[in-house]
This record gives sequence, structure tokens and C-alpha cells, in this order.
Amino acid sequence: MKIIVLGAPGVGKGTVAAMLSKKYGLPHISTGDIFKDAIRNETTLGLKVRSIVETGQLVPDEITNEIIRERLEKPDVKNGFFLDGYPRTIEQANAMDTFAKPDLALNFSADRNIIIERLSGRRVCTKCGAIYHIRNNPPKKSGTCDNCLGKLIMRKDDSEAVIINRLDVYERQTKPLIGFYRKKGLLAEINSGYQMNEMEKIIKQCDDAIARVKNG
Ligand code: ADP
Ligand code: ZN
Repeated sequence: MKIIVLGAPGVGKGTVAAMLSKKYGLPHISTGDIFKDAIRNETTLGLKVRSIVETGQLVPDEITNEIIRERLEKPDVKNGFFLDGYPRTIEQANAMDTFAKPDLALNFSADRNIIIERLSGRRVCTKCGAIYHIRNNPPKKSGTCDNCLGKLIMRKDDSEAVIINRLDVYERQTKPLIGFYRKKGLLAEINSGYQMNEMEKIIKQCDDAIARVKNG
């Protein structure tokens, strides 16, 4: 099943998509991770998109569409995928329809204050990319990754000014996708305004939506 995951930055879609990916045995493809890995590894792509990502703007559609089109040709996605962070504009959604029509769009939503709290407390490992939260999911030793002992930092795009910009970009460019997929009858609303210890409430809503598509 080809599933896309929509929602504002910080809404928790990445965490949930990773859990669903394990549960259903389908790959989790995150455009944010693709870009951030490229930046960390200083690849050609990384150098090209670095300043765009660090200021919370969107990478141009031509670049993003091409990366996803190629990624979705790989053999591991033949049974489907959880696509997280793409499409993010109407133009991307139209492009995607030409190479992989989604079966379901999970739309995550939560209160704006919850979102800002989550993003501003987020810390990421400079070595392996693991994600922590200073209150909700702290590392064993403050500032140090549990997995690899790498140094934890705040992502440049998690500073308050950039967060506000990212939420703005979301409102203007990505929110219209909700109507786009609702019209096609593909949208499922997921309330993700729960704490980490109530994750099963979020997963349950996703399971139900997936089951509805499976059972036609
Ligand atoms: P967020 O927590 O803001 O959802 P992501 O990890 O999904 O963060 O993405 C981080 C950044 O990567 C975005 O702010 C944007 O610059 C870039 N990006 C990710 N997905 C896309 C996309 N589909 N189109 C354009 N830019 C993207
Ligand atoms: Zn690490």
C-alpha cells in the first residue's frame, strides 16, 4: 500500500511513520532525512540545499520530485511505502500522480503550542541522526547520544524564528494538500496531539484507516 503522511512540522508524523514502517514491513521514506543526510555528508545535493533547509524554506520542486521519483523505482518499495514529507506542494502532488498514485493520505494534526514545544525541545545526534527530546524523550546522559555517544545539538531549523517560518510555509504551501486528497477520497484525519506515552492511541487511528483501505 502506498501511504503518504501529511501534517505540519513537529506534528509527530516522522516518529509515527517510523513505527508504522516497522509494523507493516514497508519502507519509511522521509524527504527531510534524505536532505539532512545529504547536508551532513556534504554531498553535491547537500551543498545545494543546505541554506534552503537551514532557513526553513522548501527545496525547489524539480529537485525534490526527481529524488522521490528515483527513490520509488527501487525494488524495496514494490509492496508500498510510508512517504513522510512528500508531497509538500500541490505541484509535487500532481507530479507524484504521474509516477506513483497514493492509496491513502494520513493527515496528522495537533495544537500549535504542542508543536512549538516539541520542536524547540528536539535534539539530534550529529553523528547518527537519532532524535531526542529534552523532556519527552531525553538521552541517558545529557547532550550525548545513547546509540553512538555522538554530540547532540539543536537542529538549525528548530530555532524559534525558523520554526515560525516553517509553520508559515506549511500553512501557505502544504495545507492545500488536505483538500487535494480529500477530494480524491484518500484522506484520513489523525489526531496526534498526545504525549509520547500515549503513542498507541495514534497508531490505532492509523491502523483503522489502513484497514479501511485494505477492506475496500
Ligand atoms: P519538518 O519537521 O519541518 O517536517 P522535515 O524533516 O520533514 O522537517 O524537512 C526538513 C526540511 O527539508 C524542510 O524544512 C525543507 O527545507 C526540506 N524538505 C523536506 N521535504 C521537502 C519537500 N517535499 N519539498 C521541499 N522541501 C522539503
Ligand atoms: Zn548517535
